[in-house]
Amino acid sequence: MDARERALFQAYNQALRWLAGLSDRPVPARAAAEDIVRALGTDLPAGPTPPDEVVDLLATACEPGLTGFPSGRFYGFVVGGTHPAALAADWLVSAWDQNCVMRAASPAYAAAEDIAAAWLLDLLRLPADCGVGFTTGATMANFTCLAAARDAVLSRTGWNTVRDGLAGGPRVRVLVGAERHISVDLALRYVGLGEPESVPADDQGRIRPDALRQALAAGPPGPTIVVLQAGNIHSGAFDPFQPAIGAAREADAWVHIDGAFGLWAAASPRYAPLTAGCPDADSWATDAHKTLNVPYDCGLAMVRDAAALRSAMGHQGAYLIHDTRGDPIDTVPELSRRGRAFPVWAALRSLGRTGVADLVERLCRHATAFAEGIAAIEGATVLNDVVFTQVCAAFDDDAPNDVHTDARTDRIIHRLLDDGTTWISGSTWQGRRVMRISVSNWSTSDDDVARTLDAIQRAAALP
Ligand SMILES: *Cc1c(COP(=O)(O)O)cnc(C)c1O
Repeated sequence: MDARERALFQAYNQALRWLAGLSDRPVPARAAAEDIVRALGTDLPAGPTPPDEVVDLLATACEPGLTGFPSGRFYGFVVGGTHPAALAADWLVSAWDQNCVMRAASPAYAAAEDIAAAWLLDLLRLPADCGVGFTTGATMANFTCLAAARDAVLSRTGWNTVRDGLAGGPRVRVLVGAERHISVDLALRYVGLGEPESVPADDQGRIRPDALRQALAAGPPGPTIVVLQAGNIHSGAFDPFQPAIGAAREADAWVHIDGAFGLWAAASPRYAPLTAGCPDADSWATDAHKTLNVPYDCGLAMVRDAAALRSAMGHQGAYLIHDTRGDPIDTVPELSRRGRAFPVWAALRSLGRTGVADLVERLCRHATAFAEGIAAIEGATVLNDVVFTQVCAAFDDDAPNDVHTDARTDRIIHRLLDDGTTWISGSTWQGRRVMRISVSNWSTSDDDVARTLDAIQRAAALP
């Protein structure tokens, strides 16, 4: 073997060891960053080291500080694991090292992106002629869609953002649900629209269409964007799209939907009704690295008016070779970028239509099992209607009318992290500390759920 083969062979073996260890290894990291710094060493070497030795050092030194994100018992945040076809394809992406800017530069990439985009629109039940951009994540997908939205609503007033920027132009109103994801606020900041107007939500975190209609009517007419949500990170709830989009349309607003994980409900016949009305929006953001389980990173920006997307993100450079069908760079903020569509294509090609539906339904089934198992624990309350993949639970102290009801919830979460069987996040929702479970990993099994419920019961049983 030459040096390159030895390095790749080392990485292959280390990757398999890591993945095989996930079922028994504690899910939380067991070492702190300082420990890993020590193990890696801080002195910049004076000279070269063989690549395979470097890979071995990296894997060995980092292992204790790695979190079992791809474990079937990781339920923190909203993440997602790595489907084997997508992971293997991602290795090829690095080996192929394509710069996926132009069709002419990498015809293979353009082909995979076109096919994956068409499949995604089909599975997510969105218009087939949408423009689709493969971004780093849903934050950048929100950014991309909101840039297209901003330019489009301003151009209706005769203002040209691409040429004149924002300064001196009409103010764009942006209305969002009170429980939108923080990334929507970030994206609005990046596109220069500032803080949005927050519209009240109901007890599951869904925007209230009556409140939206009222807020729209109360403000000045003019360029307006409404941001809705498919999948609340606490409750999993979906905004009532039909009435909310109806209200937005009356105000001639652009409707954007953040569906980072929830949009995938559309891929399951059983859960698709949650997304009823979604296709009537103007743009949609979702993640492939969550529910679809491709490795980091990949988000998707989808815009009904493909020309609006191209106008906001497109590049014209004399040194580039433009294609009349549009190029991958016309749909995302970056120029140089890796071939994100290859792992997406591989996951979809391997799962097929029924595989994606089964994946979504399995995640939801596990979430329901968690809700049932936790509800049976003394003093536990599941706070949300478990309609999708998210479960929020709180644990009361034994003492009646105890004001410290949050303390037991936090205690249980800390004990779980010490125990290591699982990784579950704490959060604050509707004024209470909650244990928040997000089932997002393709590999989570009934056994993982049973082992986790057992750990939660043990943690809850301690005084
Ligand atoms: C995760 C998430 C985002 C942000 O996605 P990234 O891929 O982390 O950028 C946005 N909205 C919702 C609802 C999410 O769950």
